[in-house]
Amino acid sequence: MTEVFLASRNAKKLGELQRILVAHAPGIRVLGLEDVAAYDEPREDQPTFEGNALVKARAGLQATGLPTLADDSGLCVDALNGMPGVLSARWSGPPKSDDRNNQLLLAQLEDVPDERRGAHFECVVAFCHPDGTELVEHGQMTGRIIRELRGSGGFGYDVLFVPDESASHGRELTSAELPQADKDAISHRGRALRRLAPRVAAALEVG
Ligand code: IMP
Repeated sequence: MTEVFLASRNAKKLGELQRILVAHAPGIRVLGLEDVAAYDEPREDQPTFEGNALVKARAGLQATGLPTLADDSGLCVDALNGMPGVLSARWSGPPKSDDRNNQLLLAQLEDVPDERRGAHFECVVAFCHPDGTELVEHGQMTGRIIRELRGSGGFGYDVLFVPDESASHGRELTSAELPQADKDAISHRGRALRRLAPRVAAALEVG
C-alpha cells in the first residue's frame, strides 16, 4: 500500500474524498491530519480554487514528506457574479458556520426570481509528489439555489442546492437529500477526483 496524505480539516469533505479515491485508486492508503504530526496550515489567500488547492497540497507535502492531495471548492452563484466562490467557507464571517452562511445566502437571494437562481459548485483537487510532480484537475456541478433548507446529508450549502442532474430521481432533491453515492457520481469533487485518481495512481506506480 502506498500512503497518500489528504490535507483537509473538513471531516465531511475528507469522507467524500476518501470514498471516491479508494474506489478509483485501490492501491492507495489515505492518511488524514490526525495521522501526521501537527503543522501550521497555510492561509488560503489565493484568488482561485486552483491556487488555494496547490497552496494546501504543497504545505502538506512540505510538512509530512508524503505525496499529498488537497482540494479547494466553493459555490458560485450567478446572481452574485460568481460569489461566494473561494470565500464560500467564510462567507458570513468568522467563526466558520454552514448555518449562518446558508441564512446569509437565502437573504441575499430573497428578491431573485426562480429563473435567475442558477449556481454551480466548483472543485479543484491538487496532488504534489516529493519528486516535484504537481497535478491538478477541475470538476463542476451545476444547479440552482432554492428558498428553504432541505435535507440532512452532505455539508455546507448542500441543503440549498438542487443539482440539475438530481431530476433523474423523480423529484428534485437537494444535494443534502441525495444518497452519498449519488452525490459522489455527479458532484464537482467526484468529477475532479475521478479525473485525477488514475494520474495519481500512475505517478505513484500503483493500480
Ligand atoms: P474549502 O475548505 O475552502 O474548500 O471550503 C469549501 C466551502 O465551499 C465549504 O465550507 C462549503 O461552504 C462550500 N462547499 C464546497 N463543496 C461543497 C459541497 O459539496 N457541498 C456543499 N458545500 C460545499
